[in-house]
Amino acid sequence: MRKETVRRRRTRAAEVVGRLEAQMPEAKIALRFQSPLELLVSVVLSAQCTDLRVNQVTPALFARYPDVRALAQAKPEELEPLIRSCGLFRNKARNLVALAQALLERHGGEVPKRREELEALPGVGPKSAGVVCIHLGGDRSFPVDTHVGRLARRLGLSAEQDPSQVEEDLRGLLPPERWGRAHQLLVWHGRRTCTARAPRCEACAVRKLCPRLGVGSPGPRPPARVERIPADRPRARP
Ligand code: SF4
Repeated sequence: MRKETVRRRRTRAAEVVGRLEAQMPEAKIALRFQSPLELLVSVVLSAQCTDLRVNQVTPALFARYPDVRALAQAKPEELEPLIRSCGLFRNKARNLVALAQALLERHGGEVPKRREELEALPGVGPKSAGVVCIHLGGDRSFPVDTHVGRLARRLGLSAEQDPSQVEEDLRGLLPPERWGRAHQLLVWHGRRTCTARAPRCEACAVRKLCPRLGVGSPGPRPPARVERIPADRPRARP
């Protein structure tokens, strides 16, 4: 087992992001929205659901409830048929109405840009709050979904399973201004190439930088040990 220095890992992480950017400059969020509220609603609906499916249901939902007041006055059971195909539809309908009410009560009907305030809204977890922050220009965030977590582990950038700990590791490797973009690039790479079941390492733009930890066949180099960055050596927070 070879130990990788923190400095070397930071350099490697930056190279990974640079190569993914060069390969996928068009990478962007797949959800379709035209306002902060539509973004927030779409992100809530996307929990355990595909972005494609969310994009199929939101046009009718946004036409019926065009603003935060309309959504706050709705009855959850009125929303249910419109979002049924997204899964967990009863919970999501309840959360969306409660979320709109909370926006009116606490934020003057606006979507906040602070992650902490977003996470306090019904149905909005850390990952969702981070995604909203990235796209609204709010708090710098490196949200970790299933793709980002899987790639961080395979690339040897984190050994953690808990998304918040993976995020902490990733934030320590890249400067804050790159967190949002790196999130998006890893999501795309995870969907297109480094899929959960069959990563296409032979076609991967970052293969030479990847120890392929946890991937079945042997990688191009001996796996590096993944250690947490010591607490006294954090990268500056934004
Ligand atoms: S080399 Fe394989 S495991 Fe590593 S990032 Fe690329 S596809 Fe994923």
